[in-house]
Amino acid sequence: MKGIMSMNRLLSSEIRDDFPVLSRKVHGDCSLVYLDNAATSQKPACVIDAVSAYYRRTNANVHRGMHALAEEATGEYEAARRAVGALLGAPDPEGVIFTRGTTESINLVAQSWGGANLRAGDEILISVMEHHSNIVPWQLVAQRTGAVVKAVPLMPEGELDLEAMERLLSERTKMVSITQVSNALGTVNPVDVIIAKAKAAGAKVLIDGAQSAPHMPVDVKALGCDFFVCSAHKMCGPTGIGALIAPAGLLEGMPPFLGGGEMIDQVTIEASSWADLPYKFEAGTPNIAGAVGWGAAIAYLNDLGIEAIEQRVHERVEDAAARLEAEPGVTLTAHPRKRGGAVSFWLDGIHPHDVAQLVDQSGVAIRAGHVCCQPLMKHLGHPAINRASYSFYNTEEDTTRLLEALRTTRKLFGV
Ligand code: PLP
Repeated sequence: MKGIMSMNRLLSSEIRDDFPVLSRKVHGDCSLVYLDNAATSQKPACVIDAVSAYYRRTNANVHRGMHALAEEATGEYEAARRAVGALLGAPDPEGVIFTRGTTESINLVAQSWGGANLRAGDEILISVMEHHSNIVPWQLVAQRTGAVVKAVPLMPEGELDLEAMERLLSERTKMVSITQVSNALGTVNPVDVIIAKAKAAGAKVLIDGAQSAPHMPVDVKALGCDFFVCSAHKMCGPTGIGALIAPAGLLEGMPPFLGGGEMIDQVTIEASSWADLPYKFEAGTPNIAGAVGWGAAIAYLNDLGIEAIEQRVHERVEDAAARLEAEPGVTLTAHPRKRGGAVSFWLDGIHPHDVAQLVDQSGVAIRAGHVCCQPLMKHLGHPAINRASYSFYNTEEDTTRLLEALRTTRKLFGV
């Protein structure tokens, strides 16, 4: 019954009332059409209220204090960790590490696991569609260790070339780090197949879930990857918090990433020993309010139902892709078999930055640029793209407004 009510709410325009920002105007009297959800999602009132309530009622440091507020803050922080683990199917409760987000999670794995395990000549396999966050950390550790970064090429439709991946895998491959959903092309990668191939080659696997965790059911344990990373702010949660999820046994064997308070057991001037998981990887005062807000976001998403959210976003983005494809002067960057939340395109003869600025004048927020994927831009042969990215609160009308704004832009440019 609750599921049906949530689905009805998801299908109705009422869902938009949960997000205060969606009712605001921009540039005078333009109602906002927010199609930049791959960059960051909007926040429902329940998340904003949870963060505010935390600071109003509870604020204290976690795991240290012996007073009521410290205990409550610790309780809320740890409850959020359990919610993240339950949502994403963490193999072990203590294998959910809070970080600043996907970027920091990948840097943690690259520096800690990579620094300890990579040797000169070892290979790290990424792909041409990766976000810079899943490229640069590997380059940094490769420079430190003498390992080599290689990339799986793409097929013309914007899918990974899995046959080429097979050829690139060898006993030298120690890490395969691939995104589950492309932030630029929208492609949903077959991570089960990728994980199986990487494991058969004896490599560890990291799945970048920045664009999958917001819209798709994820079960890290069932996937069988070694590391899964994501960011709260793309999942209706606050900025500045995310997670690394991994089996406890693997994390136990890894050295700390950052040193400081919270992550130690004993400290002398000469040497230190480490706290148990997950604290070994959480040096310093964490983003407690962020965790509380993320916990509230997960409760909200669970209430709507992740499967229902996936279906909703899928309908929206497929409809947008079909209508953009049918629009004169628009060329889609990719035609993946399965799309996540994003559809990207070019408007023939107009620079993507001009397109984004002009549609913004009509209140339509889309992204322009290399979207943190410069190697992908090189592959596409364009320095930039436009990207419309959807969440479950976007409507068909949002796409209509985007198309109207694109027509206005073409008229202005006389193309
Ligand atoms: N990976 C992918 C696929 C992304 O889309 C993003 C952000 O857009 C990131 C990594 C980096 O996420 P964050 O900036 O939250 O660390």
